[in-house]
Amino acid sequence: MAKKKNKKLEFNKGWTYSEAPESSGHIDLKKKYDLFIGGKWVKPSKGKYFDSVNPANEEKLSEVAHASAQDVDLAVKAARQAYDNVWSKMSGAERGKYIYRIARLIQERAREFSVIESLDGGKPIRESRDVDVPLAANHFFYYAGWADKLEYAFPNRKVGSVGVAGQVIPWNFPLLMAAWKIAPALATGNTIVIKPAETTSLTALKLAELIQESGLPEGVVNIVTGEGDTGAAIVNHPDVDKIAFTGSTGVGKIIQKAIAGTNKKVTLELGGKAANIIFEDAPINQAVEGIINGIFFNQGHVCCAGSRLFVQESVYDEVVRKLKDRIETLIVGDPMDKNTDIGAINSKEQLNTIKKYLKWGKEDGAEMHQSSCSIPKKGYWCKPTLFLNTAQSHRIVQEEIFGPVLAVQTFRTVDEVIQKANNTPYGLSAGVWTDKGSKIFNLTTKMRAGVVWANTYNKFDPASPFGGYKESGIGREGGLHGLLPYINFN
Ligand code: NAP
Ligand code: MG
Repeated sequence: MAKKKNKKLEFNKGWTYSEAPESSGHIDLKKKYDLFIGGKWVKPSKGKYFDSVNPANEEKLSEVAHASAQDVDLAVKAARQAYDNVWSKMSGAERGKYIYRIARLIQERAREFSVIESLDGGKPIRESRDVDVPLAANHFFYYAGWADKLEYAFPNRKVGSVGVAGQVIPWNFPLLMAAWKIAPALATGNTIVIKPAETTSLTALKLAELIQESGLPEGVVNIVTGEGDTGAAIVNHPDVDKIAFTGSTGVGKIIQKAIAGTNKKVTLELGGKAANIIFEDAPINQAVEGIINGIFFNQGHVCCAGSRLFVQESVYDEVVRKLKDRIETLIVGDPMDKNTDIGAINSKEQLNTIKKYLKWGKEDGAEMHQSSCSIPKKGYWCKPTLFLNTAQSHRIVQEEIFGPVLAVQTFRTVDEVIQKANNTPYGLSAGVWTDKGSKIFNLTTKMRAGVVWANTYNKFDPASPFGGYKESGIGREGGLHGLLPYINFN
């Protein structure tokens, strides 16, 4: 099933990398997936299925069930039963054993998970193999460790669980987002109904198989696939006690309205428009590499992508020259090739959104610069793109594009850049590149962003909390903080 590399990428005008495709012969995908409810595979009540497609070649990979509100109700009932009869009564040490087992099984099947993640979502195999899947396993390991230590995590408090958690996740890190949601909920004694994104359900369904294999009691984790209406049915279900959502700010607002006046607890992990800031005293080559990683990693399908760049005026020419050189050497193409830097855009819909922003960027007067690479004819692709001469008012500077598009601006003083960087409705993450520790501390305290990386970017660890200010969300996931939304103090 390994796809041929779509094109040869030439750069440095003299040589190319040979193709290095990861094989997909070892993976096992069913033709059709039902819903995972109460530990069993259940057909959708309305008999509806939709296609899951490989965005790199538009070929169908499998069919996935579309859960109706009736199916969601069945899943919530299964979760409630498992909560009342088994999971809420089990000791933390016993819960921890199951979570460890899930972590170990993910590690054992890491290769299969990474290949399916790349086939279904379009991200380069290098990322799914080195980032998504190991981090997902680490998340389970980390929270397994807390399951029997909650009384030490919150000393002098009586820690109780919340009940049934309804979780809705996006398409940019499908397995990893499932891990972020499932692991802390299980560790704290809650049961789960989770919905993956419509375009990337397959690794969640493989996770269902693995959960079955782990022997986790039936109904503790229920995985219902579907579209936005399935997500809404979870959010609106009266017997769901807690909502955890990651996705767009628009849907986040709909969810907040939907649960207003109810007793449901909520965490929202929404969009971002991160600023990366390079000072003249920064190690420029290292900074340029970090900027490139910050925005082109996973095709820019990252809520904390460094999509705005602020360069101190004195080093602007050097930084722009190096950025242009570097994007020319980025390899765009087959996600299954181990040399690929930029894979396929996740869906046609998302590609159209990105194209709309490229058009608006030019119309607003910014100067667009793209890599001269060619892109395959089939599938959904976008060349790495820089916008120079951008202004604070431009839509490409204010709005989340969720694609490989970087908007560059200049600044002169620290106060000016803080003011500019904070001037968006978002506040998820930021990056600062400088030789001076004092500048780093000055900026990190003044940036209205949940995470501020210094002289690095896009670094994640399960022990570190993650989440946003302003319209980037409510609550934190990861670390000790990530336990809180799943706990009721008795
Ligand atoms: P989205 O519409 O917010 O989708 C996120 C999840 O919510 C998906 O599982 C989605 O299902 C579900 N959903 C959709 N409408 C819902 C509703 N009314 N109630 C409950 N759940 C609902 O995001 P998207 O369509 O995947 O992408 C749109 C934009 O969201 C992107 O362009 C980007 O700006 C942003 N985004 C942000 C993140 C992040 O990590 N912060 C991740 C992905 C996207 P379906 O997939 O079936 O629609
Ligand atoms: Mg897909």
